[in-house]
Amino acid sequence: MGLEISILGNGGCLNKGLPHNAFLVDGRLLAEAPPDIMNSLNTHGIRVETIDSVFVSHLHGDHTFGLPFLIINQWFHSIKAGDGKVLTITGPKGVREHVHQITGLAFKATHPCMEWLKNKVVFREIDHRSETRLNANVFSYFKLDHVIDTYGFLIATSEKKRFAYIADTRWCPQVERVLKLNPEFVLMDMNGGEIHISPDEVIEKGLPLIKKGTVICGTHLSDEFTSARDALTCAKPGELIVI
Ligand SMILES: [Zn+2]
Ligand SMILES: [Zn+2]
Repeated sequence: MGLEISILGNGGCLNKGLPHNAFLVDGRLLAEAPPDIMNSLNTHGIRVETIDSVFVSHLHGDHTFGLPFLIINQWFHSIKAGDGKVLTITGPKGVREHVHQITGLAFKATHPCMEWLKNKVVFREIDHRSETRLNANVFSYFKLDHVIDTYGFLIATSEKKRFAYIADTRWCPQVERVLKLNPEFVLMDMNGGEIHISPDEVIEKGLPLIKKGTVICGTHLSDEFTSARDALTCAKPGELIVI
């Protein structure tokens, strides 16, 4: 069994911001929930009820403020289908409290989706020692160097292939460790500036560390970029990566 990664987003960077930091793993695990997530799912023809698990790397709004809308849509479909569906949300310490808080702010305590959130959403707090599974794929988490507690993950498939997601971070030893593990594909925050990695930094420090065959792909971009190197690419909404 392989691994399928679908890059989500609405395309274009007319208003500079933090577009397309979300992606889907094997059609059912959503990584990151940016504020535009419902639009992205609609753009790519993905039904919200096919998602049964969400990972958020950290508790900044550009990674979590889509959750209230994802939750209200999940609640709506679950009630309609009467399927007793459970949603799992994985994230750093405090993720449960954060999601309850932002969903309560969005819809207030009396909305029935709050009861669904209480009873049907399971929270899983991770740290750098955590491991989880999705089908035959093993996820191991690693800590990054961002302004708050932030994690990336490495997926190892049953064929011993690896996919790495490096969320918001400065360049740090964990990034180097992951690159040296020879993953097939690395999706990496390349937003640049003071607290993110830039494409130039990847060229200078990252490309010398990887073996032939590894592709490092920039996501969470305020500016799309072009690259003359095969090993460095820029994520495009709608792109499908098969490992
Ligand atoms: Zn952040
Ligand atoms: Zn971010």
